[in-house]
Amino acid sequence: MNDSYINSNYDRLPGSYLFSTIAHKIKEYQGIHPEADIIRLGIGDVTTPLIPEVIKAMHKAVDEMGVKDTFRGYGPEQGYDFLREAIVRGEYTARGIDMDPNDIFVSDGSKCDVANIQELFSEDVRIAIPDPVYPVYLDSNVMAGRTGTLQGDGHFSEVTYLASTAENDFQPDLPKNPVQLIYLCSPNNPTGTVLSRETLQKFVDYANKTGSLILFDGAYNCYIQDESLPHSIFEIPGARTCAIEFRSFSKTAGFTGVRCAYTVIPHELSKLHSMWNRRQCTKFNGVNYVTQRAAEAIYTPQGWKETTAVIKGYMDTAKLIRKELTAAGYTVFGGEHAPYIWWKIPDGEKSFDFFDRLLSTCQVVGTPGSGFGPCGEGYFRLTAFGDHERTKVALQRIKENL
Ligand SMILES: *Cc1c(COP(=O)(O)O)cnc(C)c1O
Repeated sequence: MNDSYINSNYDRLPGSYLFSTIAHKIKEYQGIHPEADIIRLGIGDVTTPLIPEVIKAMHKAVDEMGVKDTFRGYGPEQGYDFLREAIVRGEYTARGIDMDPNDIFVSDGSKCDVANIQELFSEDVRIAIPDPVYPVYLDSNVMAGRTGTLQGDGHFSEVTYLASTAENDFQPDLPKNPVQLIYLCSPNNPTGTVLSRETLQKFVDYANKTGSLILFDGAYNCYIQDESLPHSIFEIPGARTCAIEFRSFSKTAGFTGVRCAYTVIPHELSKLHSMWNRRQCTKFNGVNYVTQRAAEAIYTPQGWKETTAVIKGYMDTAKLIRKELTAAGYTVFGGEHAPYIWWKIPDGEKSFDFFDRLLSTCQVVGTPGSGFGPCGEGYFRLTAFGDHERTKVALQRIKENL
């Protein structure tokens, strides 16, 4: 086929995907040092198996699928009512937030939702993204031709970056120039920090005033340990006229391999609500029944108890990483309300150089901060998803050898 027929915006995507670069470096090291016992603290995937309550619900749903009277074919593209109602009860009513089940769109993942949502907007809208952040927001807009060209400083010419650093306490300022779409992620991947109520109110007020839209990714909301911190953008007055929220069962309940998430579009945003409905009905055929029953089971009293216990396990590991690195004299952020620890690299070393040094001196793997945006340079991401005892060993090596 003639290459001139392709979407050339793809050629603007920065290099290879961060994680494939890292995988390549690890493989190379393991090739030269086959005896090395590498500990991975870079992994952004859960490792604890599904809770018993979920497994029970899945078995039951599988059995229903094998019986004529209870077999189900295509379900509603927006998700079954039983799950949409369980989400409203468990996530919103429980926190004093009014929510209509019809505003919940169940899907097979937040990555796809957060990447697909941009197709509802015209090509010339300007986006603002936190820096650093989950790369999907930026890359999906690069593919759509909305970002201009990549500059020498790592910024795209037509994107507004919301710097989130230790200097501003990871509470970004409002965009300096007019934007129409604002992505926010709290708790943030990779920094593990949480946006305060004041910061969110500031963005909601800005969005309502300027007619812009906030795309709020709350994939890690269940990791927030302090009840007074905002878990949802819809806790903020005024959000229903200017915000869409993305949630996922991936990190909440270990569904990274099962696949279930949801997007909340308040009916106040009636045009976007009906456009997303049309988009999903045209391009998506729903999440399978067994998976939706599995997700529903998280909200039973027993399911919630088990889910909370798994999250507590990860947070105990996060606490350990924070404590040990701090005791060793390092500066760390995050890890209190998220499974991510954002490690300030000492002495101005570049984050990819630090990756190499950590691998060669400690056989420990993490993720270079620069892979998440220019402001991530000088930082390093560790995750609390790994085995607790292995993480202890890694921290011991860091204390002794780094
Ligand atoms: C893991 C993650 C998601 C979840 O993606 P799924 O497709 O639902 O697995 C969304 N946003 C962020 C920031 C994440 O880190």
